[in-house]
Amino acid sequence: MRVHVIGGGFTGLVAAYHALKRGHEVTVYEKDQRLGGMIQTLETPFGLVETAANAFIWNPEISEIAGKIGVELKPAKTGARKRYIFNSSGTLCFPWPSLFRPVFFLRIFFFAFRYVFFRSLVAPRPFESIRVWGTRVFGSSITVEVLEPALQGIYAGNGTRLSASLIMGRFFSKQPVRMTRITKRGIQPPPRGSVAPEKGMGAFIGALHTYLKGRGVTFVLGSEVKSRAQLPSHEFVIHTVSHSHVRSQFSPYSNFAETMSALERISVITATLFFQPNKTKDLRGFGVLFGRDQGARALGVLFNEDIFAKRSQVRSETWIYGGEESEHLMALSNTELVATALKDRKTLQGSSDEPLHYQVTKWKDALPYYTVELERMLFQLTNKDFEEDQKILWLGTDLGSLGLSRLVAHIKTRVEASL
Ligand SMILES: Cc1cc2nc3c(=O)[nH]c(=O)nc-3n(C[C@H](O)[C@H](O)[C@H](O)COP(=O)(O)OP(=O)(O)OC[C@H]3O[C@@H](n4cnc5c(N)ncnc54)[C@H](O)[C@@H]3O)c2cc1C
Repeated sequence: MRVHVIGGGFTGLVAAYHALKRGHEVTVYEKDQRLGGMIQTLETPFGLVETAANAFIWNPEISEIAGKIGVELKPAKTGARKRYIFNSSGTLCFPWPSLFRPVFFLRIFFFAFRYVFFRSLVAPRPFESIRVWGTRVFGSSITVEVLEPALQGIYAGNGTRLSASLIMGRFFSKQPVRMTRITKRGIQPPPRGSVAPEKGMGAFIGALHTYLKGRGVTFVLGSEVKSRAQLPSHEFVIHTVSHSHVRSQFSPYSNFAETMSALERISVITATLFFQPNKTKDLRGFGVLFGRDQGARALGVLFNEDIFAKRSQVRSETWIYGGEESEHLMALSNTELVATALKDRKTLQGSSDEPLHYQVTKWKDALPYYTVELERMLFQLTNKDFEEDQKILWLGTDLGSLGLSRLVAHIKTRVEASL
């Protein structure tokens, strides 16, 4: 059977991989002249710049694809285990010694005890926000000082609106995934945490494209698919374009499309700045997450050359902006955004160094906002809504799988079940 994949971003390419693996003939339609969507690795005179995701969280599904396409995934450096949260109490360093604060320690110990023995007591309840759930299970200080800044850095949203079930629910499911890696020396534990190709995420996209093309997948670049009528009605379509307006144009009559067109999205801006290293002032580790209204506008900052080797010869930092402030920030010029990052940097570590070079990327409506309202909308959809057209498979981040590794696992399951 021929399968038409709409969208040549990460989701579309992975969907094409699994459709091909199931023995189908595959065509991928991409409206731009390049594949990868938001994911791209740019080379600058001072080092690599990632325009969106900088890593995968290792899982067996991503490892399988990397192995097949011949890309080695390198683990993050050990120094990247150190992470910080910046808030009114100062810059907390994780995992140690911040957890030794007696209140935190007791709360986390009590949570861990209930998680192991009475999990349902601490599981998120339907339509509970992160603020309400966090306060119920950890108390308000951990929620406001640690949990909310951490999730805001990943989901770019406000804890009072983010859905606890959509974000934390998987940690409470009854069947946790066991992850193992089989090597010549037997079964070994997988590399934990973040992994990425040495040359950046663009190398993964490039190798996946080459692999698919070499096995007969057709790529039609510069081709925007706007309606189902553009493709043969008897053939199967995998729709990976997350933006709700495209979904509703594609299937204007359906309950699913109507629900999705009400989905809120969040714009995200990254500013990667290169500096001469400053041994006395530069914080070292994975990066910093910022609490709201604590004096900085950034959601977070990544210390790129501390995370993966060979990313830059100098100090490379990616400042991330967006969330509920994103409309206003998107209107700023690149110079104004860099000035904002430099101000936040001064607040964080007191340094006023001028950057050697910078690269700003703006993504309008980049991520779905995983709110309690979205949880309610998804809850109201029935299987019938998804199956209205038996020959369309809807995939993408707005169906509750943010994060590339979760997305890959979701795509594999859905493609295997549908094709
Ligand atoms: C700043 C930033 C940092 C991130 N960091 C991480 C991270 O560290 N880890 C992680 O796991 N995730 C991260 N993410 C999220 C991750 O990058 C995205 O979820 C993922 O790249 C989305 O891929 P996609 O294919 O679903 O969507 P997209 O990348 O948006 O791709 C969709 C593609 O479809 C094409 N298209 C659109 N309309 C049509 C049409 N009508 N016809 C044909 N083609 C069309 C587009 O041109 C695009 O190429 C980050 C995102 C951002 C913005």
